[in-house]
Amino acid sequence: MKTVLFLLNDSQLQKFVMDLGEPRFRAAQIRDWLQRGAPDFDSMKNLPISLRQKLDAVAQTLPLKIVKKLVSSDGATTKFLLQLNDCEQIECVLMRTTYGNSVCVSSQAGCAMGCKFCASTLLGLKRNLTPDEMFAEILVAQWELRVNAHDEKNIHANGDPNNNDVSHIVVMGTGEPLQNTENLIGFLERANQELNISWRRITVSTCGIVPGIYDLIKWGRPINLAISLHAPTDELRSTIMPINNKYKISEVLTAADEFTNLHNRQLMIEYILLGKHGENGETVLYNCTPEYAEMLSKLLAGKNCMVNLIPWNTVDERDFASPSGNAVHRFQDILIKNGIHTRIRRERGTDIGSACGQLRLNNKKD
Ligand code: SAH
Repeated sequence: MKTVLFLLNDSQLQKFVMDLGEPRFRAAQIRDWLQRGAPDFDSMKNLPISLRQKLDAVAQTLPLKIVKKLVSSDGATTKFLLQLNDCEQIECVLMRTTYGNSVCVSSQAGCAMGCKFCASTLLGLKRNLTPDEMFAEILVAQWELRVNAHDEKNIHANGDPNNNDVSHIVVMGTGEPLQNTENLIGFLERANQELNISWRRITVSTCGIVPGIYDLIKWGRPINLAISLHAPTDELRSTIMPINNKYKISEVLTAADEFTNLHNRQLMIEYILLGKHGENGETVLYNCTPEYAEMLSKLLAGKNCMVNLIPWNTVDERDFASPSGNAVHRFQDILIKNGIHTRIRRERGTDIGSACGQLRLNNKKD
């Protein structure tokens, strides 16, 4: 197996280049490229070509490789299919937005949670990602931003053409981050220290692993917490999210409140809007009827929270339908009438299968 240079410390890297018969200063040059996220040795332009080839034969830069890269038609979203060293595949998505450059990070290869609407969990959980692997996802995105900095399609944060840094992390890719909390924390500490990404620009999304939320409270960093709620009653939620049989909505929200009160943060509630196929081909609302909007409003009344409404992205293997735009707006209007902060999440990169585990799944099927 090739040596992953990114995983070596400075003295190990020096020894590695000197064992190849190279001068010590090459280690510092290589380190510089590694920190910028160079995906291969050919990108290391100040190394002689012969050295780049020598390195390529025995080493790799990051603990993962880019298998596929897809760019959305508006250029704002780039999706990566990445392969880890044991051949497991994960996805990561770079979103260039007006408020910054955000990376959606996977925390596990696959997922064990079994949510009925989600593609990521279809093949089960393969394994937890290490802090290095999660960090490398950010570096892949960081490199992409630098390399394509002058792409005219690039939407630069705050209109600043020099803003080519990853500024936000959302742990909303494949996997349940709070089933891998220790590695998650290791990764986020590193992103904060080495890439200067402030805690307030980091969001961790969970399906509601209550002890994991208490672990985050103990950790004490003022990140944002998002809860994938998707239903206002335990009865309904249990039909789509098996985790609800273990942790009830009230327990999840109590823990989440404790977290957000501690840090004086707004809680993010994610709510997918799901329909079912009716007998005559029509879409029957599943979790987004007006009655459920009223129940959700009651559940969240008085909380400092923002409800992100997410129209379901179609997953062929799943037996749901996406409700019409009108139904989405009707649902939102009821929340607004009841004084609940809400917005409809703009879907980014649906034209490149950016929605939740699709790329990985489709690649496995190919
Ligand atoms: N396991 C974590 C984070 C990963 S999922 C969690 O459950 O929060 C990130 C978000 O995408 C979750 O809210 C999840 O429910 C949602 N999601 C999954 N599949 C989706 C789909 N097909 N369309 C829209 N959102 C989806």
